[in-house]
Amino acid sequence: MDKTQYNGVYVFIEQREGKVQQVSLELLGKARDLASSLNEKVYAILLGSAISEAAPLLISCGADVVILADNPILSDYSTEAYTQAICQLCHERKPSILMIGATTIGRDLGPRISARLETGLTADCTRLEVSEEGELLMTRPAFGGNLMATIVCKEHRPQMSTVRPGVMKALSPDPTRQGSVEVFAPRFDTAKFRVKLVKTVKEKKELVDITQAKILISGGRGIGSKDGFEQLNNLAQTMNAQVSASRAMVDAGFVGHDRQVGQTGKTVRPDLYFAFGISGAIQHLAGMEESELIIAVNKDKCAPIFQVADLGIVGDVKKIIPLLNDRLKK
Ligand SMILES: Cc1cc2nc3c(=O)[nH]c(=O)nc-3n(C[C@H](O)[C@H](O)[C@H](O)COP(=O)(O)OP(=O)(O)OC[C@H]3O[C@@H](n4cnc5c(N)ncnc54)[C@H](O)[C@@H]3O)c2cc1C
Repeated sequence: MDKTQYNGVYVFIEQREGKVQQVSLELLGKARDLASSLNEKVYAILLGSAISEAAPLLISCGADVVILADNPILSDYSTEAYTQAICQLCHERKPSILMIGATTIGRDLGPRISARLETGLTADCTRLEVSEEGELLMTRPAFGGNLMATIVCKEHRPQMSTVRPGVMKALSPDPTRQGSVEVFAPRFDTAKFRVKLVKTVKEKKELVDITQAKILISGGRGIGSKDGFEQLNNLAQTMNAQVSASRAMVDAGFVGHDRQVGQTGKTVRPDLYFAFGISGAIQHLAGMEESELIIAVNKDKCAPIFQVADLGIVGDVKKIIPLLNDRLKK
């Protein structure tokens, strides 16, 4: 493979019902960074139907070029159609780097593309940098989070990685940024389409995404019971915050998995993160240590959570939460 033919940092833009997902904007922010180090351009791959209106947002958030494939076949995500379109694009354009959000869609799409292009894919990266030789250094937790492994895709192109929502930071949109839109018309081999979307049924649940919350009130095993979570909910209401949890509490059935913070849950970056009765296991820290301000309450003064906390309170959560709630109400 002649690697010199490969150029440009490409980001797959995930849209659902025409709405660009936040993770794609976060990836554009990172792509901008990488492209500056490589002196290359950032390309946003926008697939969908009647979605050209999204292009200015992508340019304002870091794309130099938006590659637009507008086709009713691409209206909703389907593995085969999206894989065919992106593989064709990669054969034609030869990207050096291809980034995808590690969402349910991205986790389905990424491996298909990498297998068909016969290249490597590093999943769930937490850090992306460029080496002195211009190669992408893809870092992710390994061995249950006890080790950070940096992976390089030396022999193949594109260098592919997925990144979970909330790990990278989106740039503030700059409407004065200049960029262009290029139309791409994929040719589909519909004989290979084996899945048809018949209808979409939305799960009925409270649609609160903890990755978007400004204040998170997180509870761990120290909260202990349903009553404990009742107290957390009361505090969350007072503070207009969202409740999240450690895996211990999700496994115990007190909170849904969509509210789990950590390596196998979500990565969050709120302005304020309360950790009540959470020990601070490395897999939990991986999901919240980038929060702006961390306040931890734990009865064990040696709990590892205090190593990342800006403010630590040694005490019993059952006493402290109601006191805090009363004070805040006043
Ligand atoms: C591959 C893998 C992936 C994982 N992914 C995740 C993940 O995504 N998210 C995650 O959270 N974990 C994850 N874990 C689990 C993780 O290792 C820990 O087991 C888990 O985070 C512990 O949760 P905890 O802090 O609530 O409980 P514990 O570790 O049991 O800590 C409870 C804490 O509460 C304190 N406490 C007890 N009673 C009180 C009280 N009355 N007042 C104040 N403090 C009190 C204790 O001192 C203790 O520090 C993963 C593990 C593995 C192996």
